[in-house]
Order: sequence, then C-alpha cells, then structure tokens
Amino acid sequence: MDNLRHQMVLHQLGRRGIKDKKILEIMERVPRHLFVNEELHASAYDDGPLPIGYDQTISQPYIVAFMTEQLNVQPHNNVLEIGTGCGYQTAILSQLAKKVVSLERIPELAESAQLRLQELGYANVDVINANGWNGYKQEAPYDRIIVTAGAKKIPEPLIDQLANGGIMVIPVGKILFSQTLRIISKDSDGNVIKKTSLPVRFVRLVNK
Ligand code: SAH
Repeated sequence: MDNLRHQMVLHQLGRRGIKDKKILEIMERVPRHLFVNEELHASAYDDGPLPIGYDQTISQPYIVAFMTEQLNVQPHNNVLEIGTGCGYQTAILSQLAKKVVSLERIPELAESAQLRLQELGYANVDVINANGWNGYKQEAPYDRIIVTAGAKKIPEPLIDQLANGGIMVIPVGKILFSQTLRIISKDSDGNVIKKTSLPVRFVRLVNK
C-alpha cells in the first residue's frame, strides 16, 4: 500500500501541479485504504472517487489535494468541514489545522468516521451528525470552511460564520453532479470576494 500511495502522490498530485510540500507529505502518510471497505483496499489509490455506502463517495485524491491547497490552512486555524463522508479529507485537514469540526448528515457515516479518525489517532477532530447547510454556530467563526458536497447556491450562514481574513472552498452548481469550485475569501474588513476555479463533480449538498 505504501508504494501505491507513493505512486498516487507522484503521478496524480505532483505531476498535475500540486506544489504544497506539506500537503504532498501528509497525503503520502494518511492511509487512504483504511477509509474504504476492505474489498476496495486495492482500488483506494486509483485516480477517482469510490463508493462509501449510502450513495456517497470518497473524493478523487487530486480533488482532495487541490481543494486543500486552495484552502491554505495555517497551523492556528479553526476549520469547519461540511460533508465528512468517510473522514479522509477530515484527516488531511487535521494535520494542517489546530482544530477541525466536521458535519455529516447521515448518522451511520458520522459515527463510523468519528470512530475511524479516533482509532487512527486524529485527535483534533470533532465529527458532528448534523445538516451543515446552516453551518455550526457553536464554534464560529471559522478561519477556513470547506464544503465537500455540491451546493445549489452558497449557503448564507456559511459566509456569516467565516472569520475576517478567512477562506471558504465550496462546489456550487444547479445541475446534479456538475459544479464549479468557488473560492470565497473575506478580507480583514469583512468584505467578501468570490472567485471561480475548477469544474468538479460532487454528490448533492442536501438543503435544510
Ligand atoms: N469529504 C469526503 C467526501 C464526502 S461525500 C471525502 O473525504 O472524500 C459528501 C458527504 O456530504 C456525504 O457523506 C453526504 O452525506 C454529506 N452531506 C450532503 N449534504 C450534507 C449536509 N447538508 N450537511 C452535512 N453533510 C452533508
């Protein structure tokens, strides 16, 4: 598995332009195969998403790396993730941030992700079984927000819960499985700047 993971980092990430050394090093370490069912272990380092049950997926490694790079997480950051799924992206974020709060609406996925992350030793992570459309006020504001499901529009509560100087990465699009990655930042005065990035394909971010 170590060799497959090394090949993934080299070919899928490095050669496609992921430059952040820390992210490459973390993705070289996090055991992606342990985030999918045993019968999928051999495919865990393939160049695509994989099913995790409940009609949901673990994202393609390149997309995880790309979104993480765009998020530019700093060691003192408080991060909110919406759409824990199996917790793979959460594990990567936990290695870059001070604290990660991750929301997952499907109770079984939330429970198994929390358990998995605990067992693997990712301790600065809290998985909460909740709908993330309204964010999570209790621990707001967040320096970074990452949404790993496709939203029809940018949920207002998430913009409200983004700290000044913060960054949010979110796939947005009206059509199922077709979104554009948006990079939203707030300057030190609270002005919101919206940029457009890659076309992506995520499962739907379920509305409230
Ligand atoms: N971050 C994952 C990808 C998860 S797929 C990875 O590392 O690969 C998207 C997840 O978002 C699914 O598990 C789905 O149940 C969840 N989801 C969809 N809408 C949601 C919502 N409104 N609130 C919380 N989770 C949501």
